[in-house]
Amino acid sequence: MVRSTPMLEQYRRIKGEHPDEIVLFRMGDFYEMFFEDAVVAARTLEITLTSRDKDKESGVPMCGVPYHALDQYVARLIDAGYSVAICDQVEDAKLAKGLVKREVTKVLTPGTAFSYLDLQSEANNYLMAVSTEKGLIGLAYCDLSTGEFRLTEVESLTLAKEEMVKLRPREILLSEGLNGDRDWNKVVAQLPSSSVRYLAPWLFEFTSLRDALLEHFKVNSLDGFGCGDFTAGLVAAGIVLNYLKETQRQELSHVAKLSPYLWGDFMALDDSSRSHLEITSSLSGTKPDSLLGVLDSTVTAMGARKLKRWLDFPLVKKGEIEGRLEAVWRLKEEMARRLSLTEKLKKVADLERLSSRLALGSAQPRDLLALKNSLRVVPEIKEELKDTPTPLIASVSSGLGDFHSLVTLIDRAVSDDPPVSLREGGIIKSGYCQELDELQALRREGKQWITQLEQRERERSGIPNLKVRYNNVFGYFIEVTKSHLRSVPDDYARKQTLVNAERFITVELKDYESKVLGAEEKIYSLECSLFAELKQEAARYTVELVSAADSLATLDVLSSLAEVGQRLNYCRPTISEDDIIDIKEGRHPVVEQLALGERFVPNDAYLDLKDNRLLIITGPNMAGKSTYVRQVAMIVLMAQIGSLVPAREANLGVVDRIFARIGASDNLARGQSTFMVEMTETANILNNASRKSLIILDEIGRGTSTYDGISIAWSVAEYISDPNRLGAKTLFATHYHELTELALTKPGVKNYNVAVKEWNEEVIFLRKILAGGADRSYGIQVARLAGLPEEVIAKSKEILRQLEGNHSLKLPEGESERGENEQLTLFVRPSDALRDEIVNLDLDNLTPFQALMRLKEIKDKYT
Ligand code: ADP
Ligand code: MG
Repeated sequence: MVRSTPMLEQYRRIKGEHPDEIVLFRMGDFYEMFFEDAVVAARTLEITLTSRDKDKESGVPMCGVPYHALDQYVARLIDAGYSVAICDQVEDAKLAKGLVKREVTKVLTPGTAFSYLDLQSEANNYLMAVSTEKGLIGLAYCDLSTGEFRLTEVESLTLAKEEMVKLRPREILLSEGLNGDRDWNKVVAQLPSSSVRYLAPWLFEFTSLRDALLEHFKVNSLDGFGCGDFTAGLVAAGIVLNYLKETQRQELSHVAKLSPYLWGDFMALDDSSRSHLEITSSLSGTKPDSLLGVLDSTVTAMGARKLKRWLDFPLVKKGEIEGRLEAVWRLKEEMARRLSLTEKLKKVADLERLSSRLALGSAQPRDLLALKNSLRVVPEIKEELKDTPTPLIASVSSGLGDFHSLVTLIDRAVSDDPPVSLREGGIIKSGYCQELDELQALRREGKQWITQLEQRERERSGIPNLKVRYNNVFGYFIEVTKSHLRSVPDDYARKQTLVNAERFITVELKDYESKVLGAEEKIYSLECSLFAELKQEAARYTVELVSAADSLATLDVLSSLAEVGQRLNYCRPTISEDDIIDIKEGRHPVVEQLALGERFVPNDAYLDLKDNRLLIITGPNMAGKSTYVRQVAMIVLMAQIGSLVPAREANLGVVDRIFARIGASDNLARGQSTFMVEMTETANILNNASRKSLIILDEIGRGTSTYDGISIAWSVAEYISDPNRLGAKTLFATHYHELTELALTKPGVKNYNVAVKEWNEEVIFLRKILAGGADRSYGIQVARLAGLPEEVIAKSKEILRQLEGNHSLKLPEGESERGENEQLTLFVRPSDALRDEIVNLDLDNLTPFQALMRLKEIKDKYT
């Protein structure tokens, strides 16, 4: 049994109110943690776990951190996903009768405690709430550090999961009712970097939460934000808002608007497609080798965050896409203007986070200076934009408010080199406040007088090494070494004796001292209040600042896209609604940037909903199949965020979704090389794609035995290409050259191969996509390239010859030259009769495997 004391009782009561937080309990110079909290904290913070009693067995486990290092420890706890309640002594311990009063003064959680976190400037830190209402799932999320606040509603858990995985919220609020729900637990388990908090179900109540939102935004209806028809989404938004208010315990004026969107407003990209296409990070987890890495030439942190958001939410409305493209193109054309804009943008600090700090009252002196320097360039930027009027640029420009008087105020008031913290003094410029100037003069004169005193006293006493000094205990004093003690004047009063010297004070010295120190104290408090006024004045501009930040971020992204487009020789795509993808000399944006000692070979692509729905790309390993199919997807994606694209020319019909799947064995980097995962992902495409989607399949069906694999690949391809089923535009890269047979029997399927040349038993990769299928895999030659010993290669060739012999796959003598359309694998130069037989094959009533067997039979008959 743990012995109880009044203090432990107090602790227990407070802990009872904060069961989900680690309670840091102030005791003297330490913040202490007890019981389970102590165990967790000691492990996380790597500090010693001790016991409150001498006897460890019966004692209460505890650990503590010194009060002056609190922030650093709190940051580590939050970073590890814990929430923290800071419990302070709220009365002076010396004056307290009995137990000191203590209260929780702050609650810090991973999604809200942004000032404690080392936020990556380019990343968002979202707090998200999820609510379920009448079959809808509402998601709302806010980044307190930038004021961004959005909500959406989706109809299925799968879509909710996509959104959650994409946004990677730092903290998620769910109703207690979902705790234990198997499906939800699975979703939550996929978000390892989020901490989850379950709230009481009765909190999720529509009317009161909507009222809370109305009150916060000071509006009568949420229609103005376009949220009028939302239900589940508004519940989630209300939960987020209330939680923020509770943890921050203050107004959140920078959270100035609520932005709704719906599934379908943007191109949907599920998590695995996003990672397969390496959009915002490469498969190995780095940014430079991703599309974002190539496209990011932004010069502000806000711009970097916005570009990432554009990549996460590509557009689907032709008009919006064209609006961005027009602006980007214009900025690309007007290079001189763009360069001068970029120079100006470079002077802009992270306005989003600055205005958040202002709104939350945590701004420091240097934040005001940064604010001034940023806002000062705004009129110049506006001026530059005047002659570059595309509609989007015009709206960017109109988002830039007039900050003239704020800039003038800060300029007049805040020193050009303010200290990091208020304590150091010297924040306010002279000339701003008369009272302050007088105090400064008093302090200066006092100090001067004291310096002169030394000289005077040396002359008066005849002590050459007499010194006037200062320390925190005695203030100013006169120091005389032992050897001169005899000459000390009578009016000196002794204060302290040291080994070699004695210290004295005089009435006059103390008079001046109190003037100097009194002035210093007054200066400090006056500066504090002046600074607080300034912050308040600046905070009145919050709404305008948030809007300017958004405009500048957009401008930064647009000019970054223009800059990259120019530097990398991209073209402006033409956007249409007509379901055709027509790319001339397209390149892979990332692969072409990697210096691989090989020039990147551009390739065309043509897809439509008629004869070119499904392109089967065959070719040996390493030929460039994967690169090709991905580059088509990336070009489409880039265009739909408003970027120029790596091609000579591109006509692109808007797609609603892009699906990208990489076969299991090609997907080792993701550590999930199970066939099951691959099949689940494939099923997801077949169930969710539409005719308007673009599908990229790369080596699907590899994770199983060959015939199984071929059969699955075959039937998947058939299903997708069938306009009565899916009929979506698809690129299918495969080393199963058997699939080239599909083109013979199915309308809309076309064969392409990546050309290689055999020369002296070597394979030369030409990297050109040609019509027709490839004839074999050239596996052995590729092995040679990889440097396998000659012996192994020789043996492999022998085995291959035998295999080819057994399966009658060998080319007859003199038949090595083949035309484009006759590149069949199982067949050698098919006769017309043979072709007819294949075309007439009733594949609809056969399983792919049966079909394959039938094909083999036909082949045997004709060879
Ligand atoms: P496959 O999928 O056919 O095995 P990849 O697409 O993975 O081949 O390409 C293999 C390598 O070939 C790539 O990593 C890249 O370095 C190079 N490559 C691919 N396509 C091209 C191209 N068009 N031009 C130049 N190099 C290319
Ligand atoms: Mg490949």
